[in-house]
Amino acid sequence: MGDPHPKLHATELTRTFGRGDRTVRALGPLDLSVAPGEFVCLVGPSGCGKSTFLRIAGGLLRPSTGELAIRTTPAPDPRLRRVARPTAMIFQDYGIYDWKTVQANVRFGLDIQRMPRREADARARDWLARMGLADFASAYPATLSGGMRQRVAIARALAVEPEILLMDEPFAALDAQLRVILQDELLELTQTTRTTTLFITHSLEEAIVLGDRVLVMSARPGRIIAERRPPFPRPRSGEVRSTPEFTALKSELWELLRPEAVPA
Ligand code: ADP
Ligand code: MG
Repeated sequence: MGDPHPKLHATELTRTFGRGDRTVRALGPLDLSVAPGEFVCLVGPSGCGKSTFLRIAGGLLRPSTGELAIRTTPAPDPRLRRVARPTAMIFQDYGIYDWKTVQANVRFGLDIQRMPRREADARARDWLARMGLADFASAYPATLSGGMRQRVAIARALAVEPEILLMDEPFAALDAQLRVILQDELLELTQTTRTTTLFITHSLEEAIVLGDRVLVMSARPGRIIAERRPPFPRPRSGEVRSTPEFTALKSELWELLRPEAVPA
């Protein structure tokens, strides 16, 4: 907000599916700016258009009306300047390739950027080590647990040093303990890399722990109806979960969300 050079800027974005008298307005109008290095969380009821918005932001889907602007800068590595720095996406179902090894999965985005093989392998190994997966480089994803598969997806997304990281309920399929562990890891990681992140979740706790801002969406067609800033300075850790401020903000957000979550 107020940043003259947001990384991502959506203006009156809408999306409608279907045609004739069977059209469904899925999203908007939605206005949203994400500043460089900012971590923005979007919460909203099921079916309100969160994934639709993220797919538009990632260039996988066109808006029906409105505009989405992404500001890109050249890659820090001069040999990679031919290609714009990518936007990386991580989904709930991991989106990794079962027929490629873990190492090849993490190297995938680097191969697309035509990074020299030796260097790409080194960078992939480095990210696997950071995600605690060093010993699994030559394994196939099907042999890994859900939490490990999601770590592979995160390593793959971050290995390309994305300008913007888009995450669509990435931890929703994991059990509660693992979810907390991966939240803490992501917190540390993004505070180190300062990656601009748009994170979708239906978990208020997750949004409060991770976000610089939490945006609440209405029921479909999703618009932004409220914004809160978790009052925890950076760098923060998962310990904020046990503060009274955390509990208070969670109740406040739930009061905003509850009327939207009631089935119409
Ligand atoms: P959320 O991620 O918030 O749960 P979605 O963005 O997936 O919501 O969906 C928003 C609305 O748009 C839902 O009513 C959904 O059924 C509809 N929708 C999403 N994608 C399509 C599609 N490809 N075709 C038709 N309807 C769709
Ligand atoms: Mg969704």
